[in-house]
Amino acid sequence: MPDGALPTATAATDTAASVREQRADRPLYAGRIKVYPKKIGGLYRRLKWGVLALCLGLYYTVPWLRWDRGPNAPDQAILLDLPGARGYFFGVEIWPQEIYFLAGLMIFGALALFLVSSLFGRLWCGYACPQTVWTDLFLWVERQLEGDRNARIRLDQQPWSWARLAGKGAKHAAWLIIAAATGGAWVMYYVDAPTATRALLTGAASAELYFFVGLFTLTTYVLAGWAREQVCTYMCPWPRFQAAMFDEQTLTVTYRAWRGEPRGKHKAGDGWLGRGDCVDCRQCVMVCPTGIDIRDGQQMECINCALCVDACNGVMDKVGRPRGLIAFDTLLGGTAAQPRTSTLASRFLRPRVLVYAAMLAAVGSILLAAFALRTTVEVSVLRDRSPVFVTLSDGSIRNGYTFKILNKTREAHRYGLDIGGIPGATVSVVGADGVTPIGETVMLEARPDTVATFRLYVSAPRGALGAESTPLSFHLTDLVSGSTADHRSVFLAPKR
Ligand code: SF4
Ligand code: SF4
Repeated sequence: MPDGALPTATAATDTAASVREQRADRPLYAGRIKVYPKKIGGLYRRLKWGVLALCLGLYYTVPWLRWDRGPNAPDQAILLDLPGARGYFFGVEIWPQEIYFLAGLMIFGALALFLVSSLFGRLWCGYACPQTVWTDLFLWVERQLEGDRNARIRLDQQPWSWARLAGKGAKHAAWLIIAAATGGAWVMYYVDAPTATRALLTGAASAELYFFVGLFTLTTYVLAGWAREQVCTYMCPWPRFQAAMFDEQTLTVTYRAWRGEPRGKHKAGDGWLGRGDCVDCRQCVMVCPTGIDIRDGQQMECINCALCVDACNGVMDKVGRPRGLIAFDTLLGGTAAQPRTSTLASRFLRPRVLVYAAMLAAVGSILLAAFALRTTVEVSVLRDRSPVFVTLSDGSIRNGYTFKILNKTREAHRYGLDIGGIPGATVSVVGADGVTPIGETVMLEARPDTVATFRLYVSAPRGALGAESTPLSFHLTDLVSGSTADHRSVFLAPKR
């Protein structure tokens, strides 16, 4: 089409056909182009090292923290005891009946991630995601043993030799040691760490323990050593739906095209008039752990690590131009012909930010309130379904109940049970002597850290029952701590 001519329908059809042809030539699967990220220093790199050290430090040491819970209780500060059906978090013991705390924490974490993403983009991906942290660590090992980007590229292009084999062998051995330490540390959150470590090292551990250590070793080695950025690009669902949290005010690593273009090589002494600040050195591409060019605009592969910011700031320092050609900026700031004018208020007081913050505050408050009101005793009452009731020889009606006391303390406790609702009724506890008239307290006992189960029979004279279903209340008082627990049920009788 000649210059200046308007596109016609025929031209558009030809173009579409040509695009279709080009697409048809492309294979359905494009092989991975290996990424060789270059070493870079700078503010964000130092920040990434700091977060990496904190995350790995916590991950490897937390299972070794101890917490005295008294005799017959695990002394590991954080432990998910699956066989014992308990979660331990320092002084807090979570029972299976309280699993809603874990669900609440997960919802809280997800909302926090939404809020951070809507404000600062993919900070989680670039700094704290385990895939990023371990890939960074594996890359550091690779750099120590094989050199920086160019040395690694040359090494991979060399034909196989004993020296290359030895170098690669050392790298993979180091990766496997880190992977084994990672897999080993993961299982320590589920078993007593010192005991399990001794057992693993002496060959005395169970087959299940070896299996899970092996599984997590393998996944760490494959995902951080081999798959690397492909996990973020192809396997992780987060990049796919994070866009729902973004808007034009979300801060993200951005190439300020309005300042960088038109790009081009620049020699010392050349002027800057009529051109952009980008000197097309490709340093930002070479340091990128996912191998993309941020100058092409926002891309799903970008994990917001900001290493390209460090690289470009170094280049700008060298060529004497202001820093910040690539920077944490809003989408608007990256494309606007003028520097952005958005204020802190316009960035923080956005509807989506306020909604996420409100939801986070609500879930956090509910969790705190539930935690503050948490008691050391709980009850559950299950009325017999078959038979629903029994008519005794004296004409009175009897209902059976399975009554459970959750004693969450580490001592045996005595409890007083008061049942109310039917005047003249009596209660008998299977295994205990005598019957107790309703209105008087039934004494029960529960061993430490157990669910004590009792069979209760409530009998009521026919005349005391006004309807087929009469409300029945169970009120339990812990005679040691004074904690109470209530439950409501019904007493069923035949039709009159
Ligand atoms: S590092 Fe900066 S100057 Fe160099 S190519 Fe990237 S954006 Fe351009
Ligand atoms: S483009 Fe920049 S911020 Fe994005 S992944 Fe690459 S180096 Fe990190």
